[in-house]
Amino acid sequence: MPVLINFKICDNSKDCNGIAVCPTHTITWDEKNKTMKIDNSKCINCCKCEESCPVGAIRVARNEQEYKKIRKEIDEDPRKVSDLFIDRYGAVSVSPAFLIPLDKFDAQILESNKPAVVELFNNKSIKCLLYSIPIKELFKNFDVKYRKINISDDEYLLKKYGIKELPSLLFFNNGKLVGKIEGHYRIGKLNELKKKIEDIIKQIRWGVKNGVNIFSTFAS
Ligand code: SF4
Ligand code: SF4
Repeated sequence: MPVLINFKICDNSKDCNGIAVCPTHTITWDEKNKTMKIDNSKCINCCKCEESCPVGAIRVARNEQEYKKIRKEIDEDPRKVSDLFIDRYGAVSVSPAFLIPLDKFDAQILESNKPAVVELFNNKSIKCLLYSIPIKELFKNFDVKYRKINISDDEYLLKKYGIKELPSLLFFNNGKLVGKIEGHYRIGKLNELKKKIEDIIKQIRWGVKNGVNIFSTFAS
């Protein structure tokens, strides 16, 4: 009988406990499609995966009746990953005050009358939810506009600015991209991140003073 994953509450991560404990490699990570995948023909119903998932996202059906019951439970589950991340990781949710919809990007960021920083994140990614949170605090001491955009349903900005990893910070001045920091922000590297932000903002100020745009890019 098959193994089922409730992707509504699953991180869909290559670091999945289920992948790690499965003795038959029934659950694996598909690097090309960036998703977990299941080959039920290999499953021996040992249930190690089910026990290993901290949020009960993996379920093993032992017979047809159980399969139907679990399938129904998953289909009707109203939860989503973002509902669980507070319990799971002790994080606090993203402040809506800084969130703007994608269609306000031009008006709020490109046409801003002062340097602007936009953080692109994906609301469906646990890394984005976690690693986005402290970032707004880092801009308290700078005279820049800070906003966030959830790009989970539209990749237009990712393509436009060649962003490969999320969350990412994009720095704009006079409608031009002048710096970016790509990839998630490890708490242990917070000082490093602060330094990168300071360096980019210093360059923006220098550019403003001297009438040129300097472009900087950093991987986080
Ligand atoms: S441990 Fe559970 S929540 Fe995490 S990736 Fe695996 S199935 Fe999903
Ligand atoms: S029940 Fe056992 S064999 Fe099947 S996927 Fe889970 S850990 Fe792997």
